[in-house]
Amino acid sequence: MADRGEFDRLLAENERYAESFDRSALTAVPLRNLAIVACMDARVDVEAALGLRTGEAHVIRNAGGLATEDVIRSLIVSQQLLGTDEIFVIGHTGCGLLGADDDALRERLTAATGEALEVRFGSFDDLEASILASVELLRTHPWLKRVPVHGLAFDVATGRLREIG
Ligand SMILES: [Zn+2]
Repeated sequence: MADRGEFDRLLAENERYAESFDRSALTAVPLRNLAIVACMDARVDVEAALGLRTGEAHVIRNAGGLATEDVIRSLIVSQQLLGTDEIFVIGHTGCGLLGADDDALRERLTAATGEALEVRFGSFDDLEASILASVELLRTHPWLKRVPVHGLAFDVATGRLREIG
C-alpha cells in the first residue's frame, strides 16, 4: 500500500485551515482586478511577495511563467468573465527552464517511452528576454484586452521583484 503520509498531513492542514476560514463572502471576481502569470517554482510565493490575500487576484502558474496558449485561455476567462484589467508576468532567477534544453528533454522522454513527442517546454537562456517576450505577446494578443501588462523578475536569493521592460 502506498505511503499516505504526505496525503494525510495535507488533509490535516486543510482541517485546520477550514476551522478558521473567513473568506466565504468572496465572489469569483478578484477584488483587485489583477491577473498574475507566474512560474510554478516552489520558492516563488506570489501572494506573499506581493501582499495579496485570498480573493484579490487570479494567479496563473506554469513552468517558466510563460504566456502559453493555456495561459491565454485563462486570461480570456479572467478578463471577459471575471473583470480583471491588469496583468503581471513574473519570472525568476534560478528557473528550472533557464539554460534547460528542450531537445534533450524530448529525446530523454522519447528514449524512455519509444514515443516521439512534440511538446515545447519553453527552455530559455535569457530571463529578461523570456519575460519580455511573454509581456509583448500579452500586450498585443488579439483576444486579450489592451490593459497594462507588467514584467517582473523575482530574485530567489533576496525575495525582491525587479521591473522588466
Ligand atoms: Zn521557474
